[in-house]
Amino acid sequence: MDEDYYKILGVGKSSSKNEIKKAFHKLAHKYHPDKKGGDEVMFKKISEAYSVLSDDKKKAEYDAYGKVFSEGGSGGAQGFDFGGAGFDFSSFAQQQASGGVDFDLGDIFGDIFGGGRPKTKRGNDIAIDLEISFKEAVFGVQRKVFITKNSVCDSCSGSGAKPGSEKETCSICNGNGQIHETKRSLLGTFSSARMCDHCHGKGSVPKNKCSSCHGEGVSRKQTEIVVNIPLGINNGEMIRLSGSGEAIAGGISGDLYIKIHVSDHKTFRREGNNLVMDLNIKLTDALLGSSYDIETLEERINLKIPAGVKFGEILRIREKGISMGNSKRGDILVKLNIQLPDKLSKKTKSLIEEIKKEGI
Ligand SMILES: [Zn+2]
Ligand SMILES: [Zn+2]
Repeated sequence: MDEDYYKILGVGKSSSKNEIKKAFHKLAHKYHPDKKGGDEVMFKKISEAYSVLSDDKKKAEYDAYGKVFSEGGSGGAQGFDFGGAGFDFSSFAQQQASGGVDFDLGDIFGDIFGGGRPKTKRGNDIAIDLEISFKEAVFGVQRKVFITKNSVCDSCSGSGAKPGSEKETCSICNGNGQIHETKRSLLGTFSSARMCDHCHGKGSVPKNKCSSCHGEGVSRKQTEIVVNIPLGINNGEMIRLSGSGEAIAGGISGDLYIKIHVSDHKTFRREGNNLVMDLNIKLTDALLGSSYDIETLEERINLKIPAGVKFGEILRIREKGISMGNSKRGDILVKLNIQLPDKLSKKTKSLIEEIKKEGI
C-alpha cells in the first residue's frame, strides 16, 4: 500500500477524528460514483483511507509502519463492501432520483462505519467540585480528594482471574470476543459486531474468578486522587484528569473533572493577573502624604502615599499579584478612598475656616 491516506483525505497527522470525518464526508459527496463528476476509483480510495484513519488501532499501525495489519485492514469495516452484495449504490441512487427518499449520504456512512465495528467501552466521567482559598489559587496547591468509584481491582489488576487461575474459552462468543449481528438497512443487509459482554472482548474467561471483584476486574471503593492545582487558576475553571473517572470492565476508564471554586479574599479581588484592594486614608494623609502598612499575600510592606493624591487614585505595588508564568507576576493595585470626617469639632471647624481663607 503506497497510497498516502492523509493526502487522499487532505488532512494532517494531527487532525482530530472529527476533522478526518468531515474531510471524508466532503469527499464522499464529491466523488460518489452516482453523482455528476463522481469518480469510483477515487471514491474507493477515500473510503479505504477513512476506514483506516477513523480507527484508532489501524491509524496507529499505519502511522508506525505505513500499512495496516489489523483484520479487515483494507476495504473498511465489516460489512462495508462497496459494490458488493447487500450494498448496491445504483438502487440507492434510483431511490434518490425518484425523489422518494431524502437523506444525507454522510449520515449513512457514519452509521455504517460507526456501527460496523465494536466500540471500546468507556467508563463514566465523574465531576466534582473543589473549594480552595484565594491564596492557594494564586500560588497553586496540591490537594488530595477521596472518591468512591469503580476502580481497577487491586487483587487481579483488572484481569478478573484468581491469581494462578487458568483461562477457558468464552462460551458466549466461542472465543471470538465479538458477537456478530446482521442488520437490515435501507442500503441492504450488513453485519456488525459488538463486543462480547461476557468476556469483555477477550475471548476467554478465567476458570477461577478473583474473589475481590467476583471476576469483574473492577470494584467499587474509595480512592485517593492527588490533584495538582496550577498557580493562577481562576474561579470556575475546570481541571480534567484523564482516566481518573469510573473504571469499566473490559474498557477504558472515564475522566475526572474537577471544578475549582476559589473563596473570596478579605482584602483582594482579582482582575486578570492583578490584585485590587481598597485603602481608606485620612484626608490629611491625602493632602500631606503619608505611609500605610499593606498586607500582601506574602508579607507586610509599607506603602508610601504621596502628598496630594486624589479620590479613587490607584497606587501600584509591582510584582506582588498573580503569576503569569515565566516568573512574571501581576501587580497589586491600591485604590485610594479618602475619608472625610463625619462630624467636625469646634476646633477643627475653626481650623478649616482658616484654610478656607487660603482659597482651598
Ligand atoms: Zn479482581
Ligand atoms: Zn465472549
